[in-house]
Amino acid sequence: MLDKIVIANRGEIALRILRACREMGIKTVAVHSTADNNLKHVLLADETVCIGPPPSTESYLNMPAIISAAEVTDATGIHPGYGFLSENADFAERVESSGFTFIGPRADSIRLMGDKVSAIAAMKKAGVPCVPGSDGPLGDDPDENMRLARDIGYPIIIKASGGGGGRGMRVVHAEASLTAAITVTKAEARAAFGNDVVYMEKFLETPRHVEFQVLADTHGNAIHLGERDCSMQRRHQKVIEEAPAPGITEAQRNRIGERCVRACEEIGYRSAGTFEFLYEDDEFYFIEMNTRLQVEHPVTEMITGIDIVREQLRIASGEELLISQEDVRIQGHAIECRINAEDPNSFMPSPGLVTLWHSPGGPGVRVESHIYSGYKVPPYYDSMIGKLIAHGADRDAAFARMKSALSEIVIEGIKTNVPLHQEIFQHAAFQAGGTDIHYLEKRLGLV
Ligand code: ADP
Repeated sequence: MLDKIVIANRGEIALRILRACREMGIKTVAVHSTADNNLKHVLLADETVCIGPPPSTESYLNMPAIISAAEVTDATGIHPGYGFLSENADFAERVESSGFTFIGPRADSIRLMGDKVSAIAAMKKAGVPCVPGSDGPLGDDPDENMRLARDIGYPIIIKASGGGGGRGMRVVHAEASLTAAITVTKAEARAAFGNDVVYMEKFLETPRHVEFQVLADTHGNAIHLGERDCSMQRRHQKVIEEAPAPGITEAQRNRIGERCVRACEEIGYRSAGTFEFLYEDDEFYFIEMNTRLQVEHPVTEMITGIDIVREQLRIASGEELLISQEDVRIQGHAIECRINAEDPNSFMPSPGLVTLWHSPGGPGVRVESHIYSGYKVPPYYDSMIGKLIAHGADRDAAFARMKSALSEIVIEGIKTNVPLHQEIFQHAAFQAGGTDIHYLEKRLGLV
């Protein structure tokens, strides 16, 4: 088993990883910027190393500084968390070539999935359903591209193969604007991602976002832990997630889950991963794979009883999965609210001193947060300051617990989106379940 690891992240996820390590007897090294001396996990870690000034490009994205921290502390592994370097294949490669274990997939899996054209090709080969599309990069012949788009049927979407974070995409409604849209998207992709490969997909108008969690070890075992619905989004950012996804049948879960498992086996995937799908009219369409731990992993943990971070650490230590697919049982329903330090109306970030913090509690309530009374939220990073998770015997029970928890939470000194969550939980359409990815923005009058 890994005996000491560097946690190359900050905030709630760094604390989550630290807690898993403590339970397992793994020593921890917290690497942090000069703005993060007072982060909760920094205060709790066995060792700490300051790796640079506040801007993440000079600290949390600083590969040599992180690898040196592992060297000077004699750590054996590095956990990247999510965001920052977690999906950077070059980082995974440098970690391993420096003699440390990267607690995540192999660099070549990250690279394969980071390029959407190659990811889709690999998924098709494994029988994972994809969005009807160009089946590869678009060429320069306008007539050929028009023929492709006509076959697929408008509207279509042009997407950059190297794109990410909701950037590098353009919807086209009619043939007259197709050629110009391809040219512009290519130019943008070249500038933003250094790669001008673009491809074409059918544009789905009212899909839901449904994603499957997988775990794979280095002994050829892979399982899925069912799905999550993350359709409540604003600007492609998830706001609320739940598991299981409302209305998805066990037969659908088994069918798509098995395909994801087969894809993991075919590409030799290891560690935790997520297959993201758009879901419309009872059909699933793969859009991308996230080769890392997700923010929303706790809802899956709550309904399966499986500790995903612990499994990542076990897999990275070369151990076999203890659970087989038959052992995975879905129990009840879980829902998660992302708590952000931001104005609930304008969504402007609201960093600053937390003067008072009271955590909600009670049966089925889980809080993943690094904040405490007297903690100062720095202005340099993502505004998420925690996650509130509620689990119940069924969806109604989980909702009731979440509403109660949201009424109990006290965060003073900074603005948060708790009032927004309280409002969303009153929406009848959300309570009924199955709202699409545009619901929240429409309901908030943002589109
Ligand atoms: P990124 O890596 O930038 O997140 P994705 O491929 O995951 O890119 O797409 C991001 C979002 O763009 C999706 O969650 C969805 O809202 C929208 N989108 C992408 N492809 C399609 C499509 N074919 N039809 C409709 N919406 C799409």
